[in-house]
Amino acid sequence: MTERFEVIVVGGGIVGATAACALAQGGLTVALLDARTPERDWPKTPKDIRVSALTKASENILTALGVWAGMVQRGVCAYRDMRVFDARADGALHFDTANTVFPELGHIVENRVTVAALWDVLATLPTATCITPAQVAQTDISGNGRSVTLTGGRRLEADLVIAADGRDSALRALTGIGVSGWEYHQDGLVATVQTEHSHQVTAWQRFLKQGPLAFLPLDDGSCSIVWTLSTATAKTYLALEKQDFLKTLEQASGGILGKMLTVGPRAAFPLRFQYAKRYTAEHFALIGDAAHAMHPLAGQGANAGLLDAAALAELVIAAKTAGRPLAGKQYLRKYERWRKGDNLMMQASMDLVNKTYRVSAPKFIRLRSVGMNWIDHSIRIKTYLNRYAMGLRDDLPKLAGTGTGTQQERFGEDF
Ligand SMILES: Cc1cc2nc3c(=O)[nH]c(=O)nc-3n(C[C@H](O)[C@H](O)[C@H](O)COP(=O)(O)OP(=O)(O)OC[C@H]3O[C@@H](n4cnc5c(N)ncnc54)[C@H](O)[C@@H]3O)c2cc1C
Repeated sequence: MTERFEVIVVGGGIVGATAACALAQGGLTVALLDARTPERDWPKTPKDIRVSALTKASENILTALGVWAGMVQRGVCAYRDMRVFDARADGALHFDTANTVFPELGHIVENRVTVAALWDVLATLPTATCITPAQVAQTDISGNGRSVTLTGGRRLEADLVIAADGRDSALRALTGIGVSGWEYHQDGLVATVQTEHSHQVTAWQRFLKQGPLAFLPLDDGSCSIVWTLSTATAKTYLALEKQDFLKTLEQASGGILGKMLTVGPRAAFPLRFQYAKRYTAEHFALIGDAAHAMHPLAGQGANAGLLDAAALAELVIAAKTAGRPLAGKQYLRKYERWRKGDNLMMQASMDLVNKTYRVSAPKFIRLRSVGMNWIDHSIRIKTYLNRYAMGLRDDLPKLAGTGTGTQQERFGEDF
């Protein structure tokens, strides 16, 4: 027997669960499949080592879907300032909320908090069906759209199948969509640390020779670190005894938060620049990391994926409202045009910043610092960068733009 839905979303992480939520709230019948059943409850400590800095645009999407309140209940940490330093010179940048009408620049949220709050809302939606554990073995074009067959033989069919199954998307491979990109030969080492000094609800980032070291504030006073290192160094640091690791980290931090007191479990994630050559195929679309993977130095991967989810949902709901085929070519093409350029621009920007800070020529380092300090004194450029980093661009999907006031009101006449 084949189970029939209007949309099947494969991958129930931050991005896939958001797409499923938006589509089901738009009145479509949606099946959300994931290989794992997400955690919904956990002890207060330790914190999840995977956290994301979520932008104002992402907060708007999650608020509009009724998810944000559940996240706040579980714990989010607003950050009001961002301080960036060049560890090899005197370049520094300071972003704050002065040129916005917002009380914060964004929030640091454990990934499991966002996923659990999304799945809580999905459980209340009569048109959403969550299926776990579900592993897709095959996908085919069928008479009425596209089918997916799970390992074990269960078969589902929909007008549109959305792959949100992450960077190594199995579904993307099954539909024959290729990827381009390169390995950074860098890892993002993550852990939760207690520091001597308060994080001051500030996101701190220090650019070192191997890559940036970020301290992201958490709601219990601890910090989540994201430390970009060469793959070999990350491996060495993972193997260090706790005290040796803390000493090494303290040295790398330049003392910005005083002594490093404790560290929880550590893990490292290989970093890659990758983009899918196409975002769509027949009755098929890619969103999130399945479509694009970027360097995490400005914490934009999940935010970009949330914009994909909101944009695609908006177009599919528009197709349904207009009585048109849900996976009509013009809608899928519009989705690809809308999101691919924006994502590539973000990926390229992260890549450029990463490369810029890896250059060691003394003259270039001096120039880089002059540039940083010049930007720091230019309100106009800083406001533009702030706005870009907060995800507040001009072509946002409707769900992402539900904040207070117009873009002009938020950022002043220049923008
Ligand atoms: C060190 C680091 C720090 C980061 N920091 C930030 C940050 O601060 N801000 C930010 O915006 N982004 C950040 N990112 C990026 C962010 O983590 C990713 O962009 C985001 O998690 C992608 O979400 P996703 O839902 O597309 O994919 P994933 O999170 O990979 O989720 C994929 C889901 O699909 C499921 N799945 C996989 N394969 C299958 C299958 N075959 N069948 C069924 N289900 C399957 C998985 O179980 C999972 O639930 C960071 C990344 C790294 C590595």
